[in-house]
Amino acid sequence: MHTEKTSRRSEESAIASKTERAPRRSIFRHLYALYLLVTLTAFLTASYIASRAVRHYYLRSVESSLTSHATLAAAAFLDKLESHDTVALERLCVELGRHASIRLTVIEPSGNVIADSIRDPASMDNHAHRPEVIAALRGNIGQSERFSNTADDLLMYVAAPLRSDDRVVAVARASLSLSEINVTLAQLQRRMAAAATVTGILAFLLIIAITRRIARPLNWVKTGAREFALGHLSHRVPAHDSEEIGSLAETMNAMAAQLSDRIETTIRQRNEQEAVLSSMVEAVVAVDRAERILHVNPAAATLFEQRMDSMRGRSVRETIRNADLQLAIENTLATNTPTETELHFWGATERILQVHSAPLRDASGMTFGVLIVMHDLTELRRLERVRRDFVANVSHELKTPLTSIKGFVETLQDGAIEHPDEARRFLGIMAKQVLRLQSILEDLLSLSRIEQQAEKQQIELKSEELLPTLRSAVQICEQRAQLKQIEVAIECPSSARARINAPLLEQAAVNLIENAIKYSDAGKSLRIVVSSTDDAWLIQFIDQGVGIEASHLPRLFERFYRVDKARSSKEGGTGLGLAIVKHIAAAHHGRVEVHSEPGQGSTFSIYLPIA
Ligand code: ADP
Repeated sequence: MHTEKTSRRSEESAIASKTERAPRRSIFRHLYALYLLVTLTAFLTASYIASRAVRHYYLRSVESSLTSHATLAAAAFLDKLESHDTVALERLCVELGRHASIRLTVIEPSGNVIADSIRDPASMDNHAHRPEVIAALRGNIGQSERFSNTADDLLMYVAAPLRSDDRVVAVARASLSLSEINVTLAQLQRRMAAAATVTGILAFLLIIAITRRIARPLNWVKTGAREFALGHLSHRVPAHDSEEIGSLAETMNAMAAQLSDRIETTIRQRNEQEAVLSSMVEAVVAVDRAERILHVNPAAATLFEQRMDSMRGRSVRETIRNADLQLAIENTLATNTPTETELHFWGATERILQVHSAPLRDASGMTFGVLIVMHDLTELRRLERVRRDFVANVSHELKTPLTSIKGFVETLQDGAIEHPDEARRFLGIMAKQVLRLQSILEDLLSLSRIEQQAEKQQIELKSEELLPTLRSAVQICEQRAQLKQIEVAIECPSSARARINAPLLEQAAVNLIENAIKYSDAGKSLRIVVSSTDDAWLIQFIDQGVGIEASHLPRLFERFYRVDKARSSKEGGTGLGLAIVKHIAAAHHGRVEVHSEPGQGSTFSIYLPIA
């Protein structure tokens, strides 16, 4: 849980830092710039075309007006020219010029100016080379635009021929300043610029409004994508009525839902797998081709006395450190077939493991690692050994008295029977050995009976007081105790009750009391003390006997285990007494314990759960 949170936080910061690293501008900013460029170009082009059209139209209209004026004036001047009335010609020229608000000039074919509506003809230079004059002298209407030094202005000239008998006798030229057109054009351009600015601003506001409308759902989509990237798959992009963004939002939502489903399925499958692996008794380890641990289950971690997370990702060589296991993995990788071996693993204790290793294959059949399943055989092997030891022990225990009996029988057969005293002594020894055989068999039988019944849960437990059972056990041993002058005292609260099987508990108590008598010197005492712990009654048998060395204590309750074999045999012990006690305690869902020091006496304790 904790690691999931941290990884999500680091993902968020990764996304954030990516955004920080590359600050991006909104696409609409690019659009605004583009839009401005287009508007500006459109207006500039429009204003250029309009200016050109206006100018063209103006010039053509000036030209046609000058043409009519020049033609009319030519007709009017012809009369005066033929009558050589220069003064009248000049007056007419000035008059016509003023009326039409133009300048009129009359020029001789030689280029000499005869009359001008504005200037004194005498002060004017020869006009023979003016283009419009040249054209008019050829009998056409001449036209020209140029800067006039005399008028210090841009002028348009139109010249018409004055004909007499099909001969050009003079040229009438009309001219007008064109500076007015520039003023008009400048005005037009100003107005167009103003219109462009207003339209531009309005359109700009409009485009901002429109882009905002588009940007809002786009931002939803952006936020949605970001949320999905952060793993918040329950987030939904709001619906939108536009075809493109609406269907994009729907697609994204569907994608998130599908992704969420898949992730859920994957997590569920992983959890199921983990649950299966976790509940397995077998230790499971998966390694990759480089022998690095991909997965371990809790049983494996416990077996190798390590933490699961500290094992993952590390090599088998450094974590498990077992040459045989290493070999099994290498074999499986080399042969690509499952192998099975048994190996010893030394941790806190030695463990015997049955190892199955099988190649792990991916979908394409390629081996990418090895799956190792280990079964702990330690307990099984121990039980096998116990059984073997038990059979050997029983045979050995039975063999000794039988050999002895057989020996005496042969001795008797060989003639000892003829000597009644010896024969009687031998028979006495034989009887003792038979008794010993009998008690061994009895103990073995009662042990197996208790074991079998406990296994089948046939031992009946009843809530009973402990004191009567303990008293009866003491009574059984009374004679032997008296023989050794050993005093037995019981300290038991009358409230002590537990769920017990009285005959069995009595047998356990008898075994412990007998042991205390056997292994104590004469004149010592035995206290049987009952007290309660949190959840159990504790029955302690505290003697002042010979005590037991610590090295014997762990195996004391094993069958046929004896500390001092000679003394045990002399006392008629079978080596099964404590094993019986242990089984009886277990049948009561309790346990036994021993504390002892050589020379300091021993304390055997039986714990019985409080009902
Ligand atoms: P045994 O029949 O030999 O007494 P047990 O199983 O009863 O077999 O006891 C096992 C061994 O434990 C004994 O051989 C003896 O050495 C030791 N032992 C048992 N009880 C006592 C005791 N109270 N004090 C000292 N040693 C004991």
